[in-house]
Amino acid sequence: MDIIKGIKDVAEVVRKADNIGLYAQILDLQKEALELVEENSKLKRRIELFQDNKHIQENLIVSDNRYFLNLNEKEDGPFCTACWDSESKLIRLHEDNYGQGVIVHRCPICTKK
Ligand SMILES: [Zn+2]
Repeated sequence: MDIIKGIKDVAEVVRKADNIGLYAQILDLQKEALELVEENSKLKRRIELFQDNKHIQENLIVSDNRYFLNLNEKEDGPFCTACWDSESKLIRLHEDNYGQGVIVHRCPICTKK
């Protein structure tokens, strides 16, 4: 049973019974239950994020101060090491071509080269 719906059903019964004190307690309980449901939702999202980050971390390869992601035998990248190591953000590096074969990889977020 959905806990919020259950509390609403009980609140309606108590309201009809005209018990103001109990009705106020039920409303407080409903508010606390809503907060717990929201907190539970946030925690689930955080767990999913940690699991996603762990999966990425396990498949990152560092090469020449850049990260490459190797998933399902397919390589992607390069990505910024500073952004991943400090904030778990996988930021694709941009290539700046200075001509004559000189290519510099630059992070658009932290401008690490
Ligand atoms: Zn960066």
